[in-house]
Amino acid sequence: MNIAFIGLGNMGAPMARNLIAAGHAVTGFDPVARPEGIVTAASAAEAVAGADVVITMLPNGAILRAVAAEVIPAMKPGAVLCDCSTVDVESARAVAEQAAAAGLGALDAPVSGGVGGATNGTLTFMVGGPEEAFATVKPLFDIMGQKAVHCGAAGAGQSAKICNNMILGVTMIATCEAFALADKLGLDRQKMFDVVSTSSGYSWTMNAYTPAPGVGATSPADNGYKPGFAAELMLKDLRLSQQAAEAADADTPMGKLATDLYAQFVEAEDGKGMDFSAMLPRFEKRGRS
Ligand code: NAD
Repeated sequence: MNIAFIGLGNMGAPMARNLIAAGHAVTGFDPVARPEGIVTAASAAEAVAGADVVITMLPNGAILRAVAAEVIPAMKPGAVLCDCSTVDVESARAVAEQAAAAGLGALDAPVSGGVGGATNGTLTFMVGGPEEAFATVKPLFDIMGQKAVHCGAAGAGQSAKICNNMILGVTMIATCEAFALADKLGLDRQKMFDVVSTSSGYSWTMNAYTPAPGVGATSPADNGYKPGFAAELMLKDLRLSQQAAEAADADTPMGKLATDLYAQFVEAEDGKGMDFSAMLPRFEKRGRS
């Protein structure tokens, strides 16, 4: 396939490289990044001319809307615009409508798996949009990832992503505050892990991403809390969950609390640039008041 790849940052570059390695013709565009091994065009519009599938991997919904406004008129009829960024549900739906009005297919296909998953081709894609567009892009999802779930109509992929990450933020905080409480109760961290990881308090954050150094799964905690998944990205996704909850009139008290805590951690404390599991050293330092 002829593929255009717009946004060649930490995630986009390795995803594009996996498509090239599988034999696809990829033309990239990024105003800043010039990653090795990827042919780039002078503009996004130039990159998408003649492409069967245009993949975007961008920082946020505002940038996605701007890029979509530029590339949609330049895409060939019947081509598919597939956005893999994590953005707000409204932007995903607005871009899908514009693409459909121009006779194009459109998918929102955010990913889980981080830079490691992007590099190793083991991402999970959660996808919203028409069945035919999903079928067209499925072979590419299979190269860049290990699983692609078609979640429903436009916006369903972003909805799945922010619900998942709201659970992630809430459970990371719960796991970290429980470790900090266990410390103050004099409970050995390894014993705490041995019990909880096989009891009803187990979770992905406890079992697969253990936030305590030297205990449980190897994770950013074992590397000085260097990301991994940065606290500010967790905050971005939690804010998207609260934006969506506001628009849908959904009551999400734990999601709101997690958003407020990560905002405090990133914007008023020392959380910026740390992994999102660095909530544990944060709680360690604190008392009740
Ligand atoms: P990044 O900042 O490394 O890359 C984004 C790239 O977009 C940058 O290279 C930037 O120059 C480029 N860009 C900005 N404006 C552009 C424009 N107008 N046209 C073309 N390119 C433009 O970010 P990332 O880590 O690659 O993340 C990309 C998306 O993936 C985000 O939405 C993020 O939330 C999501 N995501 C990231 C991770 C992760 O672990 N990094 C995991 C899952 C999802």
